[in-house]
Amino acid sequence: MNSTVIPIEEIPNRVLKRAQYEAFEFELLGSRVRVRNESYADPENHEYEVTVEDGVPMKCTCPADTRFDNPCKHRVGVAIRRPILEFVEEVQAVSHLAQVDRNTLYFFSVNCKHLISHVTHVKPN
Ligand SMILES: [Zn+2]
Repeated sequence: MNSTVIPIEEIPNRVLKRAQYEAFEFELLGSRVRVRNESYADPENHEYEVTVEDGVPMKCTCPADTRFDNPCKHRVGVAIRRPILEFVEEVQAVSHLAQVDRNTLYFFSVNCKHLISHVTHVKPN
């Protein structure tokens, strides 16, 4: 697994801090992770999708990710939460085996504060 695509030490402190402390909720949509920022009063307008390939958050649909060289806080938010990445890989592997549409197979919703306890709850969509 190549987790060196986003070296933590090269991420600006400001982005890393926000990725750690903002109230992100994660929902798995096959190979993508929807990241919703519950820190806002209107979280539905702060919802983006991070594409994960081979265990690495490769890109995000938010404006900041396309505008700047550094990975956005959503990608970093996924990258620093190892259980999410492992879970995504697991679901991708299972979806592949089952030959079903992996975009609709499973979803999960995780509040990062309760990440470890919730990450095992997988529900068929
Ligand atoms: Zn983003």
